[in-house]
Amino acid sequence: MTALRKIELRCPSCNHEFPSQTVVSTNWFGGKRTDFHERAAGAQPWAYQVHMCDRCGYSGAERDFTDQTDISPQVRERVWSELSPRAQSVATGSEKYEAAAKVAEWQGADPRHIGDLWLRAAWCCVDEGDVEAERYFRRLAAWSFEQALEFYDSVPREDRAVLAYLVGELWRRIGDLTQANAWFGLVADEVINLEVQQWIVDAASRQQTDPREWFV
Ligand SMILES: [Zn+2]
Repeated sequence: MTALRKIELRCPSCNHEFPSQTVVSTNWFGGKRTDFHERAAGAQPWAYQVHMCDRCGYSGAERDFTDQTDISPQVRERVWSELSPRAQSVATGSEKYEAAAKVAEWQGADPRHIGDLWLRAAWCCVDEGDVEAERYFRRLAAWSFEQALEFYDSVPREDRAVLAYLVGELWRRIGDLTQANAWFGLVADEVINLEVQQWIVDAASRQQTDPREWFV
């Protein structure tokens, strides 16, 4: 089971204090989906690793709710105008991650981090049974990761093959096989140590010819 703990957070954008829940421990089933989505027994933990201020809608991980979090007046204004109309204490995981990804964009976070937030929004949609929103968030994740790969310095060299594979897998799950196969085809070129990374080359070629849902 996923064990949760109540926490109190103070919003760095509007100073409002509110209760939330965070993950203490998770019982993983073992195994990952081919987009690295891990599955847990009982409640899925992702929705509790992100928090939304129920007054202004500012959202992020627990570390984004500290006294050190610096929110510029411009970002605070955007939070008020764009996120506060949908601020609520019972937001779903995907709603919280969507808001967190927007805040990260406005804060000028790096595209890989933003991509991770969109990807987690998509994972929450899997649990929420919302196929259309899942596809929408996968597309935003793919675009963010593509942007991260464009800037050579923003992704460590040893991570580039895995990220190229993930972009391919996101497009495959969206249903755009042309883009998926183009990205899967780039994976081998991004490998820097074949001994360690053979698995990702194998995964990319398998997802083109005989796609699987799970890594085995
Ligand atoms: Zn707030």
